[in-house]
Amino acid sequence: MKLRDLGRVRQVFRRVRNSIAPGALILMYHRIADEDSDPWGLCVKPQHFAKHLEVLRKMVRPLQLHQLTQEMDAGTRLHRSVALTFDDGYIDNLQNAKPLLERFDLPATVFVSTGYTGQDREFWWDELERLFLQPRQLPETLQLKIEGQHYQWELGTDAHYSQEAFARDRLWQAEHQKTPSVRHSLYYSIWRLLQPLREEVRRQLLDELLTWADAKPQARATHRPLTQAEVLDLERESPIEVGAHTVMHPFLSALPISSQKQEIQQSKTHLEEILGHPVRSFAYPYGDYTKDTIAVVREAGFTCACSTNKGSVKRQSDRFQLPRVGVKDWDGDEFARRLARWFDV
Ligand SMILES: [Zn+2]
Repeated sequence: MKLRDLGRVRQVFRRVRNSIAPGALILMYHRIADEDSDPWGLCVKPQHFAKHLEVLRKMVRPLQLHQLTQEMDAGTRLHRSVALTFDDGYIDNLQNAKPLLERFDLPATVFVSTGYTGQDREFWWDELERLFLQPRQLPETLQLKIEGQHYQWELGTDAHYSQEAFARDRLWQAEHQKTPSVRHSLYYSIWRLLQPLREEVRRQLLDELLTWADAKPQARATHRPLTQAEVLDLERESPIEVGAHTVMHPFLSALPISSQKQEIQQSKTHLEEILGHPVRSFAYPYGDYTKDTIAVVREAGFTCACSTNKGSVKRQSDRFQLPRVGVKDWDGDEFARRLARWFDV
């Protein structure tokens, strides 16, 4: 049999298997907000989110993430079950997502990075967006020393960035589109350089960038992370459960195992102090982990962990590498179409 034929047979087999016993889906959201600039596509507009929930109410069997893992353990049929998750712990999860989840009586898990709660700082990627992609005057030259390496960038005429230029470029998506200006190239280069760094190093560089840009560190009301009191509010009389997402949202695989342990264990302990009950679920920042990371998450006492590997959840799926599907700012029809297709994965 030719390789291509074998591929087709496998595809048909998968379709048949999934039509008999379709898996469950874990949906991954970040923000429920309407922002002018959203380079990583993290925002779903509240009106679109309401439509998603309407579709879910009609089409699927909603359940809480920990309930899903219990059913996997019990060998229950996962027939068209869906669990909702939110990563990072943005304020809009409380202000915009919670009321809608309550209205449709749908459960969800919000994974919170505890080092950001109660700090008047934005997540580092938002701070970068505020500095480079919002209309403000910047110096023409930027020099940075990152991990012993010297960098220099020239902004030229893009040191000035007008409201008109901002309006023209605001829909830019970092992952899918060419950079429309020097500012966007610079933003993307620095994002890539900062992402793998240790938190202290990254924070120091961000402070340098803030000084360079003559900007303040204060978080925008729209972009700020939840405070501790708000983390508690999130769960109060609601179908929402809080899960852990490390302390400072690091690239775990880049850290020595002792630091990974601290990041994972401390976020759990901190949340349990705030909430007064065990925290069972974890999500790997950036979906990044190693075998050792998984062992640390298990030892910390979590019962499951979400990755960003795309796919549906089967009974035999690894509880500590649960696949998810990322949701974008789709309208109700597009969301329903995608949902139907995902159940076939
Ligand atoms: Zn995250």
